[in-house]
Amino acid sequence: MSSLVRVLACCALSGLYAFAHAEAVPGGVYTTQLPANVVRVSYKDRPVLIFERLAIVGIGINADPGNHELALFDEAENYTKLSFTVFAKQYPEQRLSIANPRMVNPNEDDLVRIRSESTKMQAQYRRFSKVESSLRPFLKPAQGVTSSPFGHRRILNDQPRNPHSGLDIAAVAGAPITAPTAALVTLTGNFFFNGNTIFLDHGQGLITMYCHLSELKVDEGDTVERGDIIGLVGATGRATGPHLHWSVSLNGNRVDPEQVISVLALLEVEE
Ligand code: ZN
Repeated sequence: MSSLVRVLACCALSGLYAFAHAEAVPGGVYTTQLPANVVRVSYKDRPVLIFERLAIVGIGINADPGNHELALFDEAENYTKLSFTVFAKQYPEQRLSIANPRMVNPNEDDLVRIRSESTKMQAQYRRFSKVESSLRPFLKPAQGVTSSPFGHRRILNDQPRNPHSGLDIAAVAGAPITAPTAALVTLTGNFFFNGNTIFLDHGQGLITMYCHLSELKVDEGDTVERGDIIGLVGATGRATGPHLHWSVSLNGNRVDPEQVISVLALLEVEE
């Protein structure tokens, strides 16, 4: 590494810390540099991603603003606590009209199906595996405009629903969806709300989900490389038009995908 690049990397990192500290919000990402002796980090009793000696922590969208704590463990399992502040953030409201009323108020049979699917998906977000992959660059999985950003408080047919837990990228039906970085395909299926769906495990609790696909191009157990086509954009499940819903999860919390891209891009200058 040349000294110029080293200086750039240094500036990028200090910029990153300022950025991360200012932006630790519900649904955001908090990063902090770890002392050399730290081998494991946990947040709310869940293991945290460590990359390039940084802890990269996902903050739940319903997290209370205020003081939060990480536990930093050494080899001998001794730990120290590290406090950081989560700042309040008010996400905009978004009103949507859904033509199929069952997609807003599902019937009893639908609810049984939705609960069983939810259990399967929660299990995906709890994964913390040793899938070996370089996390950068972490590429946007489809080309297109953002039709709905992360975090919007949703009102469907005048009824409040959970905040938007991913990023919607509008694209033509059949457009390719590609893996942001290497991963193991851990779940595929057709889900009530999400339509044809793929889960990718990038390791250490970094899990991504792709929804409303017209076609799946991978199977459970496949490994994919960065840029591999995993499926095609569609409008299956609860969708008002063809788009990719992309969720990114860290330590069990869905976070703003664009923030994950920018946090990892800031590190990229080191190479
Ligand atoms: Zn969406």
